[in-house]
Amino acid sequence: MGRTKKVGPAGRFGPRYGTKVRKLIAEIERKQKQAYECPSCGAVKVKRLSMAIWQCRRCGTKFAGGAYAPSMLARKPVEVPGEKGRSEGMV
Ligand SMILES: [Zn+2]
Repeated sequence: MGRTKKVGPAGRFGPRYGTKVRKLIAEIERKQKQAYECPSCGAVKVKRLSMAIWQCRRCGTKFAGGAYAPSMLARKPVEVPGEKGRSEGMV
C-alpha cells in the first residue's frame, strides 16, 4: 500500500483497476486537494470540505461547487438551450 511514482496516492489501489483509471483518480485527487481562489476575498485558501462543498480558510465563506473542483472558477457556465433555441435547432 502507498504512493507510487507513476500514479501517486492512487498507488494505494495496488495493481487494481488498471493504469488508466488509477491515473485518472490521481489527477482528480490532485485537483481536489489543491487550494483554490476564494470568490469572495480572492485568497487562494479555498479547500474542499466534502463532496462539492468548499470553504475559504481566510474569510470562512462556504459554498457549493463542483465535486472535485469549485467549478464556478474553473469552468465556463453551461449554456442551457431554451425553448427558442430548441425550435431553431434540428427540428
Ligand atoms: Zn475568502
